[in-house]
Parts: sequence; C-alpha cells; structure tokens
Amino acid sequence: MDAMALPVDVREIYRYLGYRGNPPTAEVAERVDSCLLQLRKASTPAATHRFLPLASPEENVLLAGEIKIHSKNLYKNMKGCSACCLFAATIGIGCDRLIRRAQLTSMADAAILQAAGAALIESLCDEINRQVIEEAKAKGLFARPRFSPGYGDFSIQHQKDFEQVLQMAKNCGIHLTDSLLMMPSKSVTAIIGLSATDTPCILQGCETCDHAPNCAFRR
Ligand code: SF4
Repeated sequence: MDAMALPVDVREIYRYLGYRGNPPTAEVAERVDSCLLQLRKASTPAATHRFLPLASPEENVLLAGEIKIHSKNLYKNMKGCSACCLFAATIGIGCDRLIRRAQLTSMADAAILQAAGAALIESLCDEINRQVIEEAKAKGLFARPRFSPGYGDFSIQHQKDFEQVLQMAKNCGIHLTDSLLMMPSKSVTAIIGLSATDTPCILQGCETCDHAPNCAFRR
C-alpha cells in the first residue's frame, strides 16, 4: 500500500482541526497541504486481516472463532451474521516521529500532523474495508459496517484478542502498550460482520447512513 495513493479529503483534516463552516485561511491551507505531503512521505502503511466464523451462543454474546465478546452493541449490529473479518491497519511510526519533532518547533504543525494522521489512517481503513467487502462478496457474504474496540460497549480489552488472532506485531508492526493503546498511535483494529443477507450498509457506518432510522442492525 502506497501512502501517496491513499485518498485524503483535506476538508476532513480541517474538520479535525475544528474548522466548521468557515474555511481556513490560505496560509493555513498551505500548511495543511505541506504537512500532509510530509506525512505521506514518512508513512509506511501496513495491514492484516483474517476471516473467522461467527456464532451467537446467547443474547449479547458473540463467538468470533475462539474469541468471546460480550457486547450488546456488537450483538445488535451483527445479528444474522455467520462470519466476520478482523483487521488491523497502521500508517506506521513515521507519523509519531514527525509529530514529536514538530512539537519542539511548531505546535500548530504538530496539531495539523495529528489531524492529517487521523485522516490518513481512516483512508487506509476504508481501503482495507473495501478489500474485505470484495473478498466477502466472492464468498457470497455481505459486509456490515466496521466496529472497533472502545466503541460503545465493545471493550478495549479485546485488543489482546486482535493481537492473538492477527499477530499484529509480527504481521503489521502494531504493538500494544500495558494500557492497551496501539503503537504506532495511528493504528486501528476493527471487526466487520458478514451476512448472507444483503443490507444497504455504507463504508462510513450507521452514523451517516440514511437507513439508520429503520435499520434493525444500526449500532
Ligand atoms: S444503519 Fe446503515 S450502515 Fe448501519 S447496519 Fe443499518 S444499513 Fe448498515
């Protein structure tokens, strides 16, 4: 995966920086472009994913392969799914190094790099998500939106399960700290439910989905 080729909408970066409604000045926009280019050059995207069978042995409990997950939110979102895909993705340690360096010289650049890093990892996740959707389609399965540990009642403790299933350290260089944060910091893990029944899910998830008001699976 080439960081230069990952699509990034600069408006997302402006949004992360707190610009709502009013666009940034030309000077800020130029700074954002420059930081994004630096970040792309310093990034080393990597990802790994694995498909697993999914079962619901009881209400609000899911069995993804050997992993047992207690989560009402996830259970609702994955009702009717017979399989799932776990993935981990990172844009690499270059982003953290750039931010640390910028913190010594320009806090504004550090903030822009933080925002650009968040947008770049989201773009990488969308890319992996698209690949998973295609691979699932070939198996006759349809994808629900991705769901990450720490969202709703899906405990961050499950990061350990992602490490066990995906061997993230070995396969994509993501390490867990004692408090279960991921290093590099711009890393994401997620689970995607897969069902034989098609649903009009969108990549951006339930929060922006037009079907959310009437969808039994919305998270
Ligand atoms: S609300 Fe939309 S994205 Fe969420 S599960 Fe329903 S159809 Fe899918």
